[in-house]
Amino acid sequence: MNLKGSCGCNNVKYTIKNNPLFTQACHCKDCKKSTGSSFVIHTMVLEKDLEVEGDIASIELPTGSGKGVNAYFCIICGVYVFCRYNISTGRVAVRSQTLNNPIQPQAHIFVKDKDPWIEISDKSICYDKMYDREKIWPTESLNRIK
Ligand SMILES: [Zn+2]
Ligand SMILES: [Zn+2]
Repeated sequence: MNLKGSCGCNNVKYTIKNNPLFTQACHCKDCKKSTGSSFVIHTMVLEKDLEVEGDIASIELPTGSGKGVNAYFCIICGVYVFCRYNISTGRVAVRSQTLNNPIQPQAHIFVKDKDPWIEISDKSICYDKMYDREKIWPTESLNRIK
């Protein structure tokens, strides 16, 4: 398993040192705004499993929960590489398309806000808003966040 990624200019490089917990696409309005596109793909990992090198800065952005999220981006090219939701301590969400080998989403969330021209072929992994993590995440991942 070799999960490496980088920003657009290669100043920031990172390695995910253990299996990711879960990968999901989010179609909510906040994620659209921050990507400038129709959805984001987040690969959730334990904070201790993410090793980052290079000059990175962060800024707090609002979220639907009201708790906020800290976005981490390359200070040179500005690419937003990962974030830490204040609601979920000990975990970070890596932006999957910054991985050298991006990961396919295991779920799509906030599909209620999905752009009408986006078609998802597997409807079984679509959720109007959020899913119940206890029912959806693999047991191994659930055990690791306890
Ligand atoms: Zn960069
Ligand atoms: Zn979202």
